[in-house]
Order: sequence, then C-alpha cells, then structure tokens
Amino acid sequence: MKREKPQIYNKYPLWIVLVANIIMILGIIAGAYIMFRLHWITGIIYLVYVVFLEFTVYKEGCRDCYYYNSRCAFGKSYIAGIFFKKGDGKNFTKRKTSWKDLIPIMLGSIIPMIVGIALLISRGFHLLTLIAAIYPVVNWFVINPILYGQLSCKHCKQGSICCPALEFFSKGKTSKIK
Ligand code: SF4
Repeated sequence: MKREKPQIYNKYPLWIVLVANIIMILGIIAGAYIMFRLHWITGIIYLVYVVFLEFTVYKEGCRDCYYYNSRCAFGKSYIAGIFFKKGDGKNFTKRKTSWKDLIPIMLGSIIPMIVGIALLISRGFHLLTLIAAIYPVVNWFVINPILYGQLSCKHCKQGSICCPALEFFSKGKTSKIK
C-alpha cells in the first residue's frame, strides 16, 4: 500500500510550536528545580548552561537553517533572527552530527537526573524531585519520539533538503523526507 507523503511546512502551525516549547520548558523547569534544591548556586549555573546551549544552537544551527527568522517547529529560528545574522544554508548541510555533539545537550538532563537521585537517597523521598528526575527518561523514550518523529522532523523543509541530525537519528537511512 502506498504511503502518503507527509506535509512539508514552510511555516509550522502555531500549535506545534506551542507543544514543542511546553515540552522543552518543562524539561528546563525539571532540571532547574533539582539543581536549585541542591543549592541556589548550582541552580544558577544550570540556567546559565541552558542559555549557553540555546545560543550555541541559534549560532551554529538556526542561522543557517531554511527557517531562519521564520516559524520552525521550535520557534528558535525567530530568536536566532534577533541575535544573529543570516548564515549560509550550505553550512547547515556540511555539518556532521555524532554522539560527541549530543553530549553537552545530554548532560543538561543527565546531571540533574543524577543529582535528583542523589537527593532522594541523601535527603529522603520527595515526590516533586522524583518526578523531575524521571522527566528526562519519559522525554527521551516517550515524548521525543512523538515530538521529533511525528510533529517536527517529518514535516520539516530543512529536513527535506538535508539535515545531519535527522540523518544521524535515522541511522543513515536517508536524510531526505520524500
Ligand atoms: S529535520 Fe528535525 S532536527 Fe533537522 S532541522 Fe528539521 S526539525 Fe530540526
């Protein structure tokens, strides 16, 4: 049976941007909650780290992306347009994604998760800490496959041109959404 081609968005529907941002913000709140429970200084360091990661994405990805200054699935392209000049689309496609590139992003979830578990052991059971500590796991295995697999990458114009991240996660099958 012939599969229908997914719709490619020149601009994503607002509801997808909203859902993607709620998921992302919940992840940041969960991480920050744990790190602030540890100490207000670790909480501040965590937030600075998150902002640093965001700006790295704007600078090294979004400004070269098809959606620059337009509505991508995550709304980041608009923010990139405020802080960075438009880059070159060729830079986006030239890049290669590897696990090494994902380490800084993963640390943003793994460190609060480890701290959360340590807090539960050292300070005793605390429901909100438990929820915040397991949120990244739910995110990785349940929410992200839906967010990336169904709502964003599948309909992405940049992905239909070429996206190293999509290529990496689809294990080299193809980077093109046809
Ligand atoms: S294909 Fe996915 S990861 Fe790549 S630019 Fe589009 S939304 Fe982002």
